[in-house]
Amino acid sequence: MSEVEQVIIIGSGPAGHTAALYCARANLRPLMFEGFGAGGTPGGQLMITTEVENYPGFPDGVSGPALMDLMRRQSERFGTRIVSQDVQAVNLGKQPFVVSSEEKEYFARAIILATGAAARYLGLESEKRLMNRGVSACATCDGALPVFRDKELVVVGGGDTAMEEAMHLARFACRVTVTHRRKEFRASPIMLDRARKNPKIEFVTPVTVTEVLGKESVEGVRLKNVQTGESWVKPVAGLFVAIGHTPNTEIIKGQLQLNDEGYVITKAGSTAASVDGVFAAGDVQDPVYRQAITSAGSGCQAAIEVARWLEAHPT
Ligand code: FAD
Ligand code: NAP
Repeated sequence: MSEVEQVIIIGSGPAGHTAALYCARANLRPLMFEGFGAGGTPGGQLMITTEVENYPGFPDGVSGPALMDLMRRQSERFGTRIVSQDVQAVNLGKQPFVVSSEEKEYFARAIILATGAAARYLGLESEKRLMNRGVSACATCDGALPVFRDKELVVVGGGDTAMEEAMHLARFACRVTVTHRRKEFRASPIMLDRARKNPKIEFVTPVTVTEVLGKESVEGVRLKNVQTGESWVKPVAGLFVAIGHTPNTEIIKGQLQLNDEGYVITKAGSTAASVDGVFAAGDVQDPVYRQAITSAGSGCQAAIEVARWLEAHPT
């Protein structure tokens, strides 16, 4: 068996990097897998956003990728070893835990799961067919593409992401229509107000997108008013899906307790998961707050708990 690590951290978002920083400073020599995850990217969800305005310490805001680059540098500065690969499987059945990448097996006494969450889609066949041909779940990545410039676009969703996506797209598009299945919005009032004040953004509720139209690329969407049943076609060049995220728990399914939505269940007031020695931090265990700062906070908590757990369980 190759060397047994004290702790392996899976995930490189704010939770993973904060956990790494604290573990490294506690001399645990953490090994981090900064994988791509389910459609993700090393650095996590903030890699696909523009301005982060609510992370303390940045009074003028900071771009998501810049913030994640700073976190990565800080993790490395204190000795975190970073493996740029996905974890394919984890065996939590016995000590030491086994973490498998495509290339080899790694062993660890403790694990911090910080795999975050991935974008959800509507589940329409037409949405799948036109994916990356006018259908996107990332305005920051795709909004400035020539195919969307000065065009009419639709955003689906009623949360903060939908508002942020709409405002970003309004910089390039001639009009952005936010469609939401309810009349009430989940978005925070400040984000909703900003979107409402944007002259290029309009809201249509309560509607669902029932079909994405177009042969080679998106030419329109079929909308349906969920109260009246009325259905109509809206010509647009793009559909941006912003309906939330699913926690990335594939690798531990059947081994850790998850809630009905698939989030890892942790003990009250702790990041300890249902298997002794496994801790979960960030969006993968947080269906409520799902913020960079709360993820970083729980990453810190997980690292401190790992250090105490290792002390209490000497080999
Ligand atoms: P993530 O950031 O999701 O990172 C998880 C990491 O795990 C990723 O690097 C992923 O690739 C990796 N991973 C997954 N599976 C594996 C595997 N099998 N092996 C190895 N690695 C794996 N929050 C704010 O506070 N302010 C904002 O302004 C803000 N803007 C946002 C804008 C958008 C568009 C989105 C989608 C979210 C935004 N959020 C914002 C929320 C914030 O991004 C998240 O709460 C935060 O990134 C969660 O951090 P995390 O570390 O838990 O997970
Ligand atoms: P969210 O808050 O869960 O909102 C998802 C939205 O999509 C909801 O309005 C939901 O409708 C709708 N929806 C879900 N499934 C749908 C479906 N199948 N068809 C149609 N609509 C569907 O997710 P989010 O907006 O991605 O935000 C996630 C977290 O990140 C939040 O905590 C948010 O505050 C945070 N965030 C923060 C910022 C910021 O502060 N700048 C920016 C982005 C995100 P219902 O309301 O009817 O359920």
